[in-house]
Amino acid sequence: MKRRVAGIETEFGLTVVTSDGRRAHEVEQAARDLFRPVVAWGRSSNVFLTNGARLYLDVGSHPEYATAECDDIWDLVAQDRAGEREFEQLVAQANAAYQEKGVDARIHLLKNNSDSEGNSFGSHENFMIERRGEFTRLPQMLVPFLITRQIVTGAGGVIHDEDGARFGFSLRSDHMWETVSSATTRARPIINTRDEPHGDPTKFRRLHVIVGDSTMSELSTWMRIEMTNAVLRLIEAGRPVGTIALKDPIAAIRVVARDLTGTAPLELADGGTITALQIQRRFLEAVTAAFDDLDERMLDLWDRALRAVETQDFSLVSRELDWAIKHDLFHAVAERRGLALDDPQIQRLEFAYHDIDRTKGVFWALQRRGLAPQILSDERIEQARTQAPTTTRAHLRGRVLHAARDAGTDVAVDWTSVRLNAPGQRPISMLDPFQTESAEIDALIDDIRSRSEAADPASPGGNP
Ligand code: ATP
Ligand code: MG
Ligand code: MG
Repeated sequence: MKRRVAGIETEFGLTVVTSDGRRAHEVEQAARDLFRPVVAWGRSSNVFLTNGARLYLDVGSHPEYATAECDDIWDLVAQDRAGEREFEQLVAQANAAYQEKGVDARIHLLKNNSDSEGNSFGSHENFMIERRGEFTRLPQMLVPFLITRQIVTGAGGVIHDEDGARFGFSLRSDHMWETVSSATTRARPIINTRDEPHGDPTKFRRLHVIVGDSTMSELSTWMRIEMTNAVLRLIEAGRPVGTIALKDPIAAIRVVARDLTGTAPLELADGGTITALQIQRRFLEAVTAAFDDLDERMLDLWDRALRAVETQDFSLVSRELDWAIKHDLFHAVAERRGLALDDPQIQRLEFAYHDIDRTKGVFWALQRRGLAPQILSDERIEQARTQAPTTTRAHLRGRVLHAARDAGTDVAVDWTSVRLNAPGQRPISMLDPFQTESAEIDALIDDIRSRSEAADPASPGGNP
């Protein structure tokens, strides 16, 4: 599939601390406080925004933002950033409310994947794929890629285990327990196979990749989707990369996470070994040979990340990719302050790197100093907070939500349908993720506007 819909779901870590750093109150309470303005306008803690995204509070108190469907990957990165901004504002509101009431508490939202108690939460990547493709074969090809992709796209961090503490490519790897399954929590798999296509089930499936780290660098986020998209195209085109059947993929992912040299041997099912670098090189070569329309920047950065690991000269990507940015930062701080990597100060730095608050988070300070990338303009990110992508059905959803908000009308929305919340109204379904025009939706929007004018004849035109 050359044109594909993709979306990113991000669960955020929430902490709430007093001015001297203790836990202020229960996280559940803080999450409810955070969502107060959302519930006030949306009458629910599970809403769709005018940019077509979904914002919600699931069980477990991890606020989540799921981007609208995008078919342009920079659009997707912008939509993902827009979600951070949305939550940044909610955090500021909640903290201001605490201050006003004299409550000694401050909420921090972290775009990371584990809390101080060792719980892991996710950043899910969703890719539309064709139903007729052989889904059972796809993971065989994809899993070796996903297991080793972390040496480009991992968020990095200090891995603690019985052997001590060391810097690795990804902390999420230790929380993976299966390659493919329909579970999301207990036996967390690399690919989730729950069959919820969010589209015409006879034509599409949704590939649900849950192994990825939440990433702060726009380039890391972009590479997660762009590289995986290229590999999916390779698989769909029937281009073989040769069988890479790892004997124990879950053991392998942990080895890869811990091995900054990329050369640790990974056992193959039929004997012999292969390294993470070899696997990644093989995929990079295969996509380069198969397609001549791939993004040059993606190919260059992929190659450079591998070279950085091959040569151990991390400066090749240390202002671009999260794991390398963090590697430099942690080692510089550890050296300056004479700390070991397992020092609590480094742990605090880990959390601070992922803090979405631009006045507090370390990533943003690095970005301002030119030590972390800024690809998208501020205008583009701000625009993505209210404007849905124009090339997918999110455009239709966004138009309806804008009209409903202007008119103060209630609509019920999910990924594949919209319905006016009024007696006798039937849902309009949008089973094609690429649909951007619809007479039914136009009529619905007219209906929403006319109802608001009828209700309030003094103010024709609705929105001031
Ligand atoms: P859970 O949060 O329990 O894992 P979920 O994966 O169904 O549930 P959401 O949090 O609602 O879902 O997020 C769905 C994601 O899938 C969104 O990012 C959305 O953009 C994306 N998406 C929607 N339609 C499609 C599609 N047809 N193909 C691929 N991705 C899609
Ligand atoms: Mg979700
Ligand atoms: Mg999901």
